[in-house]
Amino acid sequence: MPEDIFGDAVPPARRAPRKRAFTDRDRRTLHERLVDCAHNPDLYELAETLPPPGRTGRPRDYPDVAFLFFLAARSVLASARRAAAHLEDPEVWAILKAGVRAELGAVAAAGFPETGPTRSQWLRAQQRLREYSHDLWDTYRVLALDQALEQGIFPENEARSWSRPQRHQLIAADGTVLKSPTLARADQSVDMTTGEIRYHRVDPASVPQTEGGGTEVYGPKYVFFSARKDENYLSRVFLDSRYVPHLHPGGEAAVAVEGVIDIMSAAPGCMGVLYDGAFRGIHRDAIARYGGLVINKQHKGNEPQFYESLRPGRCIHELWAADGRIAEKVHFADGTAELVPVPIKRLERRGIQTFRWYHLLAIPCRHGVHEHRVAVGTTSRKGERPPGESDEERGFHRAEHLQQIPELTRTHQLVYPYRSDAESGHSQLDASLWNGRLISYGVEAQQLLTLGFVLAQNSTSRALYEEAALMFSHTA
Ligand SMILES: [Zn+2]
Repeated sequence: MPEDIFGDAVPPARRAPRKRAFTDRDRRTLHERLVDCAHNPDLYELAETLPPPGRTGRPRDYPDVAFLFFLAARSVLASARRAAAHLEDPEVWAILKAGVRAELGAVAAAGFPETGPTRSQWLRAQQRLREYSHDLWDTYRVLALDQALEQGIFPENEARSWSRPQRHQLIAADGTVLKSPTLARADQSVDMTTGEIRYHRVDPASVPQTEGGGTEVYGPKYVFFSARKDENYLSRVFLDSRYVPHLHPGGEAAVAVEGVIDIMSAAPGCMGVLYDGAFRGIHRDAIARYGGLVINKQHKGNEPQFYESLRPGRCIHELWAADGRIAEKVHFADGTAELVPVPIKRLERRGIQTFRWYHLLAIPCRHGVHEHRVAVGTTSRKGERPPGESDEERGFHRAEHLQQIPELTRTHQLVYPYRSDAESGHSQLDASLWNGRLISYGVEAQQLLTLGFVLAQNSTSRALYEEAALMFSHTA
């Protein structure tokens, strides 16, 4: 039997638990996390991109970096009220002053206010920042990717094995529904006993959403994108976060595909994405054509489909698409038949701007192994193949039925669990919200919140990276 490049899946009972034990390196005190934020150069860079206050406006007492620090601190402390109270304390405020001294120099630090702004000053500043939340994110996406590259994620000059992608060569992405700041779904209601009309504040970004398990959550949906170099829990770098508008054509998956392609176009060392079952053939197709791998699971309802009959010499080999790969229908003497996966010798990527992917099959046979190349991962359109031969004309959803890395293989078993990173990111996001619920109404305010969350997380990732680099330079 020829060897399969992806290896046989190990039965669940024999798989070693992959969860890593919590260690000291995963621990970071609130104080340390605030220090991490204050020393993140990206906060200062972002503040630079905000337009100066209008000539008619009052001069501001606080530079914008103070308010960006507040956004990150709010995520660390899981509450705006707590953040405001903490930053009014000169001892906590000194954390930011030290950051300003390190990033902008002694002169800037000397002119920096001695205590934090009042709560009403925060609220006014946030209102102003809200107008720039899209611009801030546009700037920050670039900075976040730079940070990732600096930390050794998506290296451009590293060997890339399409059949064995490494964790730091892949994006982990996932959609999540945040809990609406209010349970109200309509802006007024009538009390049935008194007839009184009540007015409610409604979050314009929230809609009823069905989550993976089938439970309904009311809130706005966001897709988060992250990557990491090492195992350390806090070393993840968040690359992007995107709002999924209600009734957006294609929904979450379409927003995710756009985000993945944007990251891939800016980071040539990125090999693709890990995603859950929300990615179907059409989404795999888009990313595979762009040159990326999609590592996700097969849709449960996919039945095996007849693919083709091969007739080399006097042989007949009946090939089917099953479980995301080519299988041969083997007939037994007792009249039964079974679909046996055909060993894959190689996963090939071909093309320059638009890519095609192939499995080089090694079909076992008593007359000697037959090699046979089958396109996978994309669904060819009319005009891309000789007339009548495209997948579209044949009605074969190739990207849906033939995966680049088939699900029931050892490689998939080893690589797909990296996706759980995306899920643990969501639980950290929930933990950064007071009672796990949003406080912000509308996409603009929520994007400030997601920016604060991502800034806080990435600040710690950067600090850990720099600490490790320092330790290495001392021991080397
Ligand atoms: Zn044969």
